[in-house]
Amino acid sequence: MEKLHNFINGAYLEPKSGEYIDNYEPATGQIYSWIPDSDSDDVELAVEAAEKAFPIWSAMSVEERSKILVKLSEGIDKRMDEFVAAESKDNGKPITLARHVDIPRAVSNFHFFATAILHFASESHYMEGVGVNYTTRKPIGIVGCISPWNLPLYLFSWKIAPALAAGNCVIAKPSEITPYTAYLLGKVAQEAGLPNGVLNILHGTGPKVGDAIVKHPKIKAISFTGGTKTGEYIARTAGPMFKKLSLELGGKNPNIIFSDCDFEDMLSTTIRSSFANQGQICLCGSRIFVEKSIYPRFKEAFVEKISKSKVSFPEDPKANLGAVVSEPHMEKILSYIELAKQEGGTILTGGKRVHLDAPHDKGYYIEPTIIEGLSFDCRTNQEEIFGPVVTITPFETEEEALMMANSTQYGLAGTIWTSDLKRAHRVADQLQSGIVWINSWLVRDLRTPFGGLKASGVGREGGWEALRFFTEAKNIFIKY
Ligand code: NAD
Repeated sequence: MEKLHNFINGAYLEPKSGEYIDNYEPATGQIYSWIPDSDSDDVELAVEAAEKAFPIWSAMSVEERSKILVKLSEGIDKRMDEFVAAESKDNGKPITLARHVDIPRAVSNFHFFATAILHFASESHYMEGVGVNYTTRKPIGIVGCISPWNLPLYLFSWKIAPALAAGNCVIAKPSEITPYTAYLLGKVAQEAGLPNGVLNILHGTGPKVGDAIVKHPKIKAISFTGGTKTGEYIARTAGPMFKKLSLELGGKNPNIIFSDCDFEDMLSTTIRSSFANQGQICLCGSRIFVEKSIYPRFKEAFVEKISKSKVSFPEDPKANLGAVVSEPHMEKILSYIELAKQEGGTILTGGKRVHLDAPHDKGYYIEPTIIEGLSFDCRTNQEEIFGPVVTITPFETEEEALMMANSTQYGLAGTIWTSDLKRAHRVADQLQSGIVWINSWLVRDLRTPFGGLKASGVGREGGWEALRFFTEAKNIFIKY
């Protein structure tokens, strides 16, 4: 069985404790590798390495840093097949999705920030007859990046790339459920010529190594993506230490569909926005609100298409959905389907675990599930399920749709389907969410602010927002 290692100071190392934890393949339910069960001793080692590397990395010209990060991006691209296979095996997602979305996006993340940093400029504020202010933006020092399992390398690199581009040294921790592509990234960093200690990748559990990263006094900023409960704990821990914090948390995103939309475009996009990556994308729309006049047509067409979608093992090129990420997560999703029934919901399609043939008979597969008949404020419609489960609910007026859409504690993303331009702007303006897609979904421009309101997080990633987060601003005034 393969043992993964931590990547510290440019080398692959065993965890100090010598302890490992099991890594499961969701498609088969079998253990296929072991990952370091790292703890505070490993964090200490990584911090020592980062401290030594920081003066070298931060003093390099942006052009030099940019060149190395471009090589890192190209290095992932060159190993595309290896990364795609690893991501799909580790996460359970269809291999086609890893090939078309996850790994190309990791390539883009490094390339985008490698080049963005060349254009990053600081401000100056001129005061007529008085003097001038100019603002410097320096790297923070050592920063922590902690990411989840749903889009493993995609989200890991989304944090690491701007942090490195801005001149910081990074201690990064991927999810213990999907460690493999982060493990491979160390090799690419070596090949790209990233100086030792600039990027350190530690594996292990949140409460052990994650917590040690959050609590380490020399790690000055934490960029975290994951669940709202974990985010709250991290805020409580890092807040009193005055660390800079970026928190990208859970969601329960609404899709609002008006009767004047382009029906076919809406339908095919809603299928993706509901079930892509088995519904395990923080941006998936899980509460679908449909104007009453087209509700029966939508329901019939949506259920018909979804009931024909293929749940299969990740290597199957015809798979629409693969495995969900873990057994506990599968149980959680199934328990929410049971809850929906208890709350009076009707399962229109799906609702059950799928058992494939050997060797995938112990894999974690769930039918894409559509539920109707629930009140907007029941638990099924308020709590994040993060799986292939959506609810559909009719509405009569724009006000009612907005009231239901805004009724949860979350505020990450929303979609609006309408041909009425005025209404599109009006509803987008009133949606309590950080991201709104009108007549589309998941169209991403890496320059735009990315993040949520309310319990969906604090701060924004992407473009200048990320580079500002990973730098410390200082204003200097000079009198005439
Ligand atoms: P999680 O909170 O359980 O874990 C996320 C990461 O935090 C993992 O690496 C984990 O090991 C680590 N962690 C756990 N406890 C920790 C602690 N006490 N201290 C430090 N680190 C700790 O989340 P998950 O189950 O991996 O991911 C699913 C969640 O992520 C969902 O809620 C989803 O909505 C959210 N998510 C949000 C976004 C976004 O951009 N807003 C994107 C993807 C996923």
